[in-house]
Amino acid sequence: MTAQVIDGKAFAAEVRGKVAEHVTRLKEKHDLVPGLAVVLVGEDPASQVYVRSKGKQTTEVGMKSVEHKLDADTSEADLLALIDKLNKDDSIHGILVQLPLPKHLNEDLVINSLDPAKDVDGFHISNVGLLGTGQKSMVPCTPLGCLMMLRHHHGSLSGMDAVVIGRSNIVGKPMAQLLLGDSCTVTIAHSRTKDLADVVRRADIVVAAVGRPEMVPGDWIKEGATVIDVGINRIEKDDGKTKLVGDVDYESCAKRAGAITPVPGGVGPMTIACLLANTLTAACRANGLDEPE
Ligand code: NDP
Repeated sequence: MTAQVIDGKAFAAEVRGKVAEHVTRLKEKHDLVPGLAVVLVGEDPASQVYVRSKGKQTTEVGMKSVEHKLDADTSEADLLALIDKLNKDDSIHGILVQLPLPKHLNEDLVINSLDPAKDVDGFHISNVGLLGTGQKSMVPCTPLGCLMMLRHHHGSLSGMDAVVIGRSNIVGKPMAQLLLGDSCTVTIAHSRTKDLADVVRRADIVVAAVGRPEMVPGDWIKEGATVIDVGINRIEKDDGKTKLVGDVDYESCAKRAGAITPVPGGVGPMTIACLLANTLTAACRANGLDEPE
């Protein structure tokens, strides 16, 4: 069997196209331009790349994009003051604080100072609670993108066995909540899980969010399962050049899976598309307008 490749890049382009259409309608009918503010503290090179890409894609769908780049030694008080200003700014509907923050800043405190309605990353404690209790919330972008790809591929996920490898607050845990919300039987695996191979072999859906290059081999995958690879790992090749790989060994997993996301071109592009979709949703909610589907 050779797996069907789930093309996250193409799907993300489709999602961005729908967001752009909706943004045009908001402008025409309601004179409303959704605005996204991205706050970057310090000069982490990977974060700078993400922030640039987010800004570019935000403007491409017709939204307002604002970037705040702060020095690495910015004080917590100054960062909180900026967030307070953005919380009160009616032209800004989504605020994203790029993580990780420099060590002297308390991430939980900073994230929980966001207006939950503008927390387009879905990391604020009240959005986490709303998601966990099945209420309307802002849903973290990476797991949301994974869920959209799974729904698109399978239709209903009801009754499927899903294994999420990784229990981080930004990917693993919200992913598990979303799959539970779609009536999967969910197992969350992590570094202390015994017999991970056996656990993964039971799964109809495997979501790998670990951060360890190619750690899931093909013989862990049940024949025909769907594999969603969240991992982004840069490794050095034999010729000294680097390349991006996921958390699953693509070649061997693709031989057994029914469907699989590639790295790059799978989960990554969907994450930013979902950020734009969340910003649009936030703008609609803030103005009492119908939300996009
Ligand atoms: P974290 O480091 O926060 O979490 C990793 C999780 O993997 C932890 O729960 C850890 O378990 C678990 N883990 C580590 N080693 C093992 C092991 N040997 N067996 C089983 N589980 C293990 O990472 P993130 O959730 O933030 O990110 C995961 C990956 O996803 C990374 O590669 C990251 O780059 C990528 N990512 C991609 C995004 C995208 O847009 N495509 C967005 C966000 C992340 P424990 O809790 O026990 O330590």
